[in-house]
Amino acid sequence: MVSVPPDDLHLDDSAGKPKEACGVFGLYSREAAGELAQRTYFGLYAMQHRGQESAGIAISDGERTLAMRDMGLVSQVFDEQKLASLEGGHIALGHVRYSTTGSASWENAQPEFHGRGDVNVFVAHNGNLVNTAALRRELEEEGFEFESTSDTAAIAACAVGELEEGHSVAEAVLRTMRRLEGAYSVAMVFRDKLVAFRDPHGFRPLCIGKIEGGHAVSSETCGLDIIGAGFLREIEPGEVVVIDDEGLKSYRAESPRRALCVFEYVYFARPDSRFDGREVAHSRQRMGEILAEEAPAEADVVIPVPDSGIMAAVGYSQGSGIPYAEGLIKNRYVGRTFIQPADSMRQLGLRLKLNPLPSVIEGKRVVVIDDSIVRGNTARKLVGLLFEAGAAEIHFRVSSPPVTGPCYYGIDMDTKEGLVGANFTVEEIREQIGATTLAYLSVDGMVAATEQKKSHLCRACFDGEYPITGTAQKFALENAAVADAVVGES
Ligand code: SF4
Repeated sequence: MVSVPPDDLHLDDSAGKPKEACGVFGLYSREAAGELAQRTYFGLYAMQHRGQESAGIAISDGERTLAMRDMGLVSQVFDEQKLASLEGGHIALGHVRYSTTGSASWENAQPEFHGRGDVNVFVAHNGNLVNTAALRRELEEEGFEFESTSDTAAIAACAVGELEEGHSVAEAVLRTMRRLEGAYSVAMVFRDKLVAFRDPHGFRPLCIGKIEGGHAVSSETCGLDIIGAGFLREIEPGEVVVIDDEGLKSYRAESPRRALCVFEYVYFARPDSRFDGREVAHSRQRMGEILAEEAPAEADVVIPVPDSGIMAAVGYSQGSGIPYAEGLIKNRYVGRTFIQPADSMRQLGLRLKLNPLPSVIEGKRVVVIDDSIVRGNTARKLVGLLFEAGAAEIHFRVSSPPVTGPCYYGIDMDTKEGLVGANFTVEEIREQIGATTLAYLSVDGMVAATEQKKSHLCRACFDGEYPITGTAQKFALENAAVADAVVGES
């Protein structure tokens, strides 16, 4: 039997949750030139949930590109002075990162620059390639040198190689896409063009908006909303969009099947973002309603694990008729960098982030709604806190199915080890977390809540149906470098 990793006191805002890979953002407008850096800042700010390790902005006037990137949140990396120093061009590219392939380091922060001779590109990528190591070897044989260890560098080098051959930008990107396997939603600047493309499965979202005199591209619609851009449409799986002074042109690669990540609906995307015209919040509420039908409970109150469980808890309450209440108060200021409590204060743990409201919980049979259980540690601590606060019973309900497999497509859970749902039965998990009862939403219930066709969604970490074969890629290039060094020494 595989054991779940020991408690950790990693208390970032999403403790116990898988991490999204990245958010990308781009703008093209001569009319709005002069404030593109600022708008990009706000676009990234709206998508901070997609990556908190580093942030970057590049601004181009078609000839010269200025870029700034650093470790930290968008608001830590940029201030007014830095944004002012970037202004001047009519093309902007922005990125927030959480690492999947490649460690969290300055070199791997994006936008990623890659150039050879007079051909150079800036690239912002959300996703994860499954053939990074092999592709990198091929590219090195073609004479490319790399400073970073991210898969994004390989995408950028591929594009440079194709552009050097003299292909048009669209053709160069389509040819690049033939060499890439995995998940990639990309925005790229090449000379006077902003290019956006999405892998043929469309694992990660990417959409286009309209601004005065031009266009915007954004991982999520919330990035468009914040700058007042009108939503135009989603970039289709396998589509390449080229934006320049002539407007927007679209090109297509073949798409074998769509596979938008269903976890975007469950947890990653912001509730106010929209996929196919439907608010994510609506899908989450439906998940709660369906969960109430599939897994009813005799209880007095429904409480969410804030913030991500709120919409599903509202749905569960509506579906079951059990009153909804806020029974856990969240400290919204718990950041990634946190003084680790001394050993004698370990029970502080989750309480730093969530504190129960005894007036809501004491003596009550409580339904607790969380969007997912990945490792199980947070759920166990939470149940402990609620019983301590006087709950009579705790009926833990999860608005997604058990996570039973790794993700190779841009979410940081690339091994089965530590996934509690992959190693224990629901009853065993219930025992571990100490709840009175435990139930999860079914795969079909989750899919129904998205109102998407089942065959149009990736559900691999829930049901094992992987759209493309993958292997763990995180640190693949660092590990390869270590292996090379060891071979070199022997
Ligand atoms: S494996 Fe899971 S997290 Fe990864 S893309 Fe598919 S549904 Fe999303």
